[in-house]
This record gives sequence, structure tokens and C-alpha cells, in this order.
Amino acid sequence: MPELPEVETIVQQLNKHIVGKRIQSAQVLEQKRVDKSIEKAVPSTVVRAWRRAKAIIMELEKKKYLLVRLGMTGHFHYAPKPESLGKDEKFAGVKFYLQDGSVLSYTDIRKFGSVRVLNEARLQKELAQFGPEPLGKEFTATKFKEMLAKKPKANIKVTLMDQNFIAGIGNIYAQEALYHAGIDPKRKIGTLKVPEIQKLHQAIQQVLRQSIAHNGTTVKNYVHIEGSGGFQKYLTVYEKTHCPQKHLITKVRMGGRGTYYCSRCQK
Ligand SMILES: [Zn+2]
Repeated sequence: MPELPEVETIVQQLNKHIVGKRIQSAQVLEQKRVDKSIEKAVPSTVVRAWRRAKAIIMELEKKKYLLVRLGMTGHFHYAPKPESLGKDEKFAGVKFYLQDGSVLSYTDIRKFGSVRVLNEARLQKELAQFGPEPLGKEFTATKFKEMLAKKPKANIKVTLMDQNFIAGIGNIYAQEALYHAGIDPKRKIGTLKVPEIQKLHQAIQQVLRQSIAHNGTTVKNYVHIEGSGGFQKYLTVYEKTHCPQKHLITKVRMGGRGTYYCSRCQK
């Protein structure tokens, strides 16, 4: 599932290809997960696009907002001409036809994602549930320590994936950050020492930034608008058999999710 770096990559590309352009018409093809009323929200220029947690927000004119959640397999295709869209277009949930003749389509084969059109109040309500952005200025090591101090009994890995606690981190980056911080994912938060928390804070920001620089991680089906991610080459434990130090990786299930770690590098 796309996490912060993957969604950030897509947002950067939406800024490059779509923002400032005018959507002439929209065609909703899948009404369970995509609001039919999007068709009536256009024509409109796309004023801006940004990311909050794992959600994409595109602002239209008159304070209307498209809120896109990619779910497991949601992705966009952008083509200068409608004919050049890819072959999975028969699964498209919505197509946006731009004034310059190009087309942006949203496709979600497994249908866990959604595209909603919201007014400002409803958008704010949707976004208010998320914890701080891990790459935001407010997310300092001190702040992280304070946040963790409220949950001494909780498990560190499960908590890192809790979107209300901290936004945008999922199964891949929680595991990668814990490896770089040398912390066993089975630890309870209350057992973490201050230097470990500082190291984890740094590791979270580092793996997210590095992954964004490589356009995210493609392990199963994530694609951004211009192709696949490149950070999978730099993964240390996620779906690996050996860590970078050549130790054997252990796999356990935590909160229903496969969790990989090195019992020698992570204590
Ligand atoms: Zn190791």
C-alpha cells in the first residue's frame, strides 16, 4: 500500500502535470468508490495539490476539494492524449479530461481507495483525525518523546503505523525505520530509552526522505505517474531474507501484518 513517500511522489507529479490546468470534464466510471458529483464539480482549474498523511488533496475552484485515498492499489495515469492511456484503463474509476487535450485517470483494481469531492469544512474534518506529519517542522525529537510517553504499554511498531498517532507511515517504513534505529519491533514503548527514541526519530525522517528522493518503493504494484519507485533497492529488512550485515532475518506477524527484523542488529 502506498505510504508517505509514494503519495508524496504522486503529489509532486500532479503538481508538475495537472496543477494550474483546467479540467474540462470528468467521467465517473465506478460510483461505489468515486463520487458521481465530481462530474458536476468541473469545469474547474486545479488550484493546487498537496498531501496529508497518505491522502492526496486537489483543490478546485470555489473551495471544492478532491480527496483521493489510494487504498492498496489506487494509482493515476496521465497521458497527453486519451488514446495513449495504459491497458488497465478498463478498471478506471474516474477520468479527468483537461483543456489541453490530456487526460488524468484514477484506477483502483482492488477498490480499497476512493475519490471524494468535499467542501472545506468536510475536508478539514477528514484531515483532523491524522497525527503529526513526520517530515513536518513540528515533529521534533522532543515532540516524539512526548507523544510516546503517553503510550508506554503500546507496541512501538504498531504505534508507528497508527495514522492518528503519526501520519503516513505504514508497514514498510515502520520496519525500515526500526532497523536503522536498531530497535526490535516487538518492544513496548515504555522500554525505549531516550537515545533510542532520538535514533528512531532520525531514522523515520531519513528513510522517508531517502525514499521520496527515489520516488518511493515498488514491491508489488505501486506505480507513480511516470513509472515505478526505486527505493526497494535500499530496503534493509522488509521482505528480505538477510539484513545488510548478512544476518538471517526473522519474520513474525504483528497486528495482522508480516513484520521483518534482524534479531542481531535490532535489540
Ligand atoms: Zn543484522
